[in-house]
Amino acid sequence: MNFVNFLIGVTSFCLLLLLTHSASLSGGDEVRAPAPQCPTDGSCQLPTCHCASTTPPGGLFGPNVPQIVYLTFDDAVTIVNHPFYASALFNRKNPNGASISATFFITHEYSNYSLVHDLYRKGHEIALHSITHTTTTQYWANMNESGGLTWECSRPTYTYRKPGLWPYTNDFRSIQDCQIAPCPDEAFPGFWTVPMLDFIGDDGFPCAMVDECTPVPKTQQDTFSLLLRNFNDLYTTNRAPMGVFTHSAWLIGPVDRPEFAERMAGYLQFLDHLGSLPDVYMVSVSQALEWVKNPTGVADIDTFQPWAPKPEATNNCVFPRNCRYDNSTWERFMSACVPCPLNYPWVYNNLGVN
Ligand SMILES: [Zn+2]
Repeated sequence: MNFVNFLIGVTSFCLLLLLTHSASLSGGDEVRAPAPQCPTDGSCQLPTCHCASTTPPGGLFGPNVPQIVYLTFDDAVTIVNHPFYASALFNRKNPNGASISATFFITHEYSNYSLVHDLYRKGHEIALHSITHTTTTQYWANMNESGGLTWECSRPTYTYRKPGLWPYTNDFRSIQDCQIAPCPDEAFPGFWTVPMLDFIGDDGFPCAMVDECTPVPKTQQDTFSLLLRNFNDLYTTNRAPMGVFTHSAWLIGPVDRPEFAERMAGYLQFLDHLGSLPDVYMVSVSQALEWVKNPTGVADIDTFQPWAPKPEATNNCVFPRNCRYDNSTWERFMSACVPCPLNYPWVYNNLGVN
């Protein structure tokens, strides 16, 4: 059982690797042969195998392809950002009547697990952005394989941003450009890559995460325009899934800096716009992958069970525990849905029992 499961009782387990590296999946210094090119003889077949391509899966085309949008947020879930998540996301519906679902790539430090639980029970996806949030390539290059991961979302593409690259499995060689070397070239059968299709900022430069786009928009209109322009790059071409990858810190800031409220208003205006379109679905990354595995046209989308309306899960965290840890150099607070672990959970002690 992994740490997130332990604390909030979720069963799904996903990954946003900070950096993709062959060794992080193959383990240590093991050398593996490069993957062969994806075959055209039909031997790579959904739902378990899918070649990297800009062609929508399942022979679907044009307006019968639902436009998938995944809204994602990185880093800790806290009392500062949870109210925004609740107000922005909890009351929106997809065209089939189901609540929208966002994906939260959480890091452990400073995360409030009773609030993580709240996001999960409202139908949002809890995914992994690491315990340590370490940003050096070498740290991840030396990691061995983790258990149970089925996809990663960490690899930007500029070459295949419009028309966009669809998610693909790593059974065969990817066609994707490698922006952050080294990229894996070995085969990892059945393991999905969800490419991050670059946005283009108003200055013409690419940005994998919307909060990296420059110039940083300072008005509601500029924010809405940035999001809409990049959305239309996909919606009017091959309808590859659009990821709106961001941090809440792009939208929440000091009240004496009105640009934050402006950006939030522009972001919400964009969600309102998406909600007005009959063929746009805001779903989690895992829900999007279920669709790629079983492509279903807009005309039949009401029969697609992974996106169907679901009852809200019960609150299993009515009385969260407020845990406090300290030593001579630091102090950490952690709200948990289980009795406080003896020690602050961390790498190699992810249940905090040691
Ligand atoms: Zn982060």
